Amino acid sequence: MTSYWCSSALLPTGVAERVLVTVADGRFTSVEVDTDPGNAVRLSGLVLPGLANCHSHAFHRALRGRTQTERGMFWTWCEQMYADASMLTPESYYLLARAVYGEMLLAGITAVGEFHYLHHAPGGRHYDDPNAMGTALIAAARDVGMRITLLDTCYVAGGIDQPLNSVQQRFSDGDAAAWESRVSLLSGADDVVIGAAAHSIRGVPQEQLGAVASALPDAPLHIHLSEQVGENAACLDAYGRTPAQVLDETGFLSGRTSAVHATHLTSVDVGLLGSSASYSCFCPTTERDLADGIGPSVALRDAGSPLTLGSDSHAVIDLFEEMRAVELDERLASQERGHWSASELLKAATVDGHRSLGFDDAGAIEVGARADLVAIRLDSVRTAGTGGTVETAVFAASAADVVDVVASGQHVVADSKHTNLDVGAELSAAIAAVTG
Ligand SMILES: [Zn+2]
Repeated sequence: MTSYWCSSALLPTGVAERVLVTVADGRFTSVEVDTDPGNAVRLSGLVLPGLANCHSHAFHRALRGRTQTERGMFWTWCEQMYADASMLTPESYYLLARAVYGEMLLAGITAVGEFHYLHHAPGGRHYDDPNAMGTALIAAARDVGMRITLLDTCYVAGGIDQPLNSVQQRFSDGDAAAWESRVSLLSGADDVVIGAAAHSIRGVPQEQLGAVASALPDAPLHIHLSEQVGENAACLDAYGRTPAQVLDETGFLSGRTSAVHATHLTSVDVGLLGSSASYSCFCPTTERDLADGIGPSVALRDAGSPLTLGSDSHAVIDLFEEMRAVELDERLASQERGHWSASELLKAATVDGHRSLGFDDAGAIEVGARADLVAIRLDSVRTAGTGGTVETAVFAASAADVVDVVASGQHVVADSKHTNLDVGAELSAAIAAVTG
């Protein structure tokens, strides 16, 4: 049994002082306030629950700094992304993902939803182990001390009624039935959830969406939804319906579904996501990087769709920035302030995020929950004088303010460094190996 003492910690009841927690088997066994530290490990600053990064493509991290000033649109960026994807092997992907997950952990992220479609070797050939790439991602998360939901993604078309290009062939099992039989070979564990995903309305034909939705009936189910205006236009053209309407008709929407981006929606679409209690996973730093647009976060929340957050392409890995971006983007769109409270945004980044990944027992500092603790410093130039409140965390702090991280009871980040990984050096080496 290990004990941690927090000078200040965010509990379900609010910020409390002098909080002593004990941990056994990766979960909190007691939480006491107004207690002396004794010989517990001391965590200073403000201690938060672990953050959940609900949408990640680990290999996109290799594009950071290489594509940001290019002119063009989303589709131009995709070409560069495909070039990097074509270089990866299970060995190099393991090293890259380990470094990227290390960066996430340093940012206070204790669980990741990896939207995984890079399953196969070039040309679509199976590796000897058909799940070699997914297994490499699971090993990478484990080796840094992070939980993972592997959202194995069905991706069988290059667009509606369009063939896959040469790189996209690596993403495809051929059809949803073959995808399902490969995914059935994967198994979860206490720290690993196997979830399902369809890439998008572009990547999976309408008649195969139902098979993806029903393949893992109790698991998280994710899909990119209406990220681009062009995607909506193609869908309307082919099916006479919006992407959200197609998902509704194919049985894709429910309380285990996450609609990623949910940017360009009609009021009917918002109602469908809300009435089905599907999550809306916003990725604001990626959406701004790719010039996607601003999704209707307030309308979705008010309709009944819980918000979650992801760093997606990893142009930035900082869930503090993602949290405040939801409110700040809404201000730009509406020319009014005060749409989201700090507590609501933190709930998206913690308890709702973990729940959308299938970790229903994480995201809060309470007895029985998974023992994740994220300490942010209150004496940095960003956080000094801000009061040490929830507003400090959401509207002042950054990933660089994370000092300590305990994930599933393990003290994996101390003094802003990973305890057994030089993350900066690993990122440099892994990205050099992919980009040449
Ligand atoms: Zn994505």
